[in-house]
Amino acid sequence: MEQLFQNSIEDLNGLRHFSEEELRILDNVDKATEEMAESEFEYYLRHEVNMDAPRIARKYGLLGIPVKKEYGGLGSNHLVTALAKERLGQLGLGFSSFFNVQVFLGGLSIQHWGTEAQKERYLKPAAQGDKVLAFALTEPEAGSDPTSLKTEYEKRGGSYVLNGTKYLITNGSIADHVIVFARSKAVQNEISAFIVDGKSAGLDRMRLREKIGLYTSDTAMLEFKDVEIPEESVLGGVGKGMHVAYSGLLNGRLGVASACIGIIEGSLNAAIARAKERVQHNKLIGKHQLIQRHIAEIRQNLEMARWPTYFAAIQRADYEKDINNKAMIDEAELRTALAKKIASRLAFESADHVVQVFGGFGYSFLSPVGALFCDSRVTRIYEGTDEIMELKIAAEVLGRDFEAFS
Ligand SMILES: Cc1cc2nc3c(=O)[nH]c(=O)nc-3n(C[C@H](O)[C@H](O)[C@H](O)COP(=O)(O)OP(=O)(O)OC[C@H]3O[C@@H](n4cnc5c(N)ncnc54)[C@H](O)[C@@H]3O)c2cc1C
Repeated sequence: MEQLFQNSIEDLNGLRHFSEEELRILDNVDKATEEMAESEFEYYLRHEVNMDAPRIARKYGLLGIPVKKEYGGLGSNHLVTALAKERLGQLGLGFSSFFNVQVFLGGLSIQHWGTEAQKERYLKPAAQGDKVLAFALTEPEAGSDPTSLKTEYEKRGGSYVLNGTKYLITNGSIADHVIVFARSKAVQNEISAFIVDGKSAGLDRMRLREKIGLYTSDTAMLEFKDVEIPEESVLGGVGKGMHVAYSGLLNGRLGVASACIGIIEGSLNAAIARAKERVQHNKLIGKHQLIQRHIAEIRQNLEMARWPTYFAAIQRADYEKDINNKAMIDEAELRTALAKKIASRLAFESADHVVQVFGGFGYSFLSPVGALFCDSRVTRIYEGTDEIMELKIAAEVLGRDFEAFS
């Protein structure tokens, strides 16, 4: 097993004993990541979406890790899933972004809010990797403030009709089913979530290629022009859209924080390898003290990112037991915001350190560290920006009366 990943499992096993089954799942995650590494790098070099990675994930059952067994998953808790994301993050965030949307924003939202029929139809095939999910909240004019979204729905007979545009949607052009958030044309401030077939008539999907990273992940713009969907497409009940969105984001943010640990580990592994092989001024660069400082910084970042993230993951297990407990929800929001804010900044800093250790080669697409650097930047933006995380942390500390973004 990869060494840093094994260290994480051993450190946590001392605090919270993993079952044989959990250890087997984590061993499979390790094997799947090994198997994905080569294709992920090849697709990255070609700037193409990697559709081999989901196939490998399916082979090892990765896409159902936190999904309940009765819906085709493995029934693991948040800590095991966080460790899985950590290992996958070592490859960069292409597949990790796919996973976050497929599993956290998509699958767990349907598991939590869906009807039994929806779980059968959408969750089971997603957990088994047979269908791809997307989560379409953001719009060109509604990002950090999703409540200002403009996509509209209208009831016409036994159907709903959707009109509007969704922007920056991960898995958007490859998804079989998209969770779409829209507001009622008839009822003020009523926002609902719908599960929409990706091939619906009137839905145009355009891949966005002009990103500065995440080349192996699909990002798309979706245009809905009179898209008619059946009444039973509503997820979580009419008017419950923002509850669905926020609970999905809470899961997703923990996934982002966990993947950031992987970015830091990937940076550390690459920095150590380069320091022990590159010679300048007649010495291995690892013997220059200023290079050692970069390596020490990355190692410190790893320690600082891991524990808030693991703590949030452990705390989530309690939250899941009583999801209507307001104090518990607030605590989960705080812990998750802390983990995402801390881990994403440290991931970006660590990727910057390793690029420096690599020197000019680090600035090339051909080096293994380019993806870590470019991909890590997005973690400070998607699923809630740094600033929104800071506002959430401050609001939890000062009290909701001080919430600056309501
Ligand atoms: C690669 C990628 C994939 C994505 N995937 C998805 C997806 O699958 N589904 C989805 O729905 N969305 C997705 N997003 C969208 C992402 O969640 C948004 O980009 C993010 O929420 C920020 O919104 P914005 O880009 O509109 O920035 P804006 O909201 O316009 O923010 C601009 C700046 O203003 C700051 N700001 C905004 N409001 C405040 C405030 N009240 N106080 C202080 N500062 C503030 C922000 O922090 C930021 O620094 C993705 C984005 C990217 C880049």
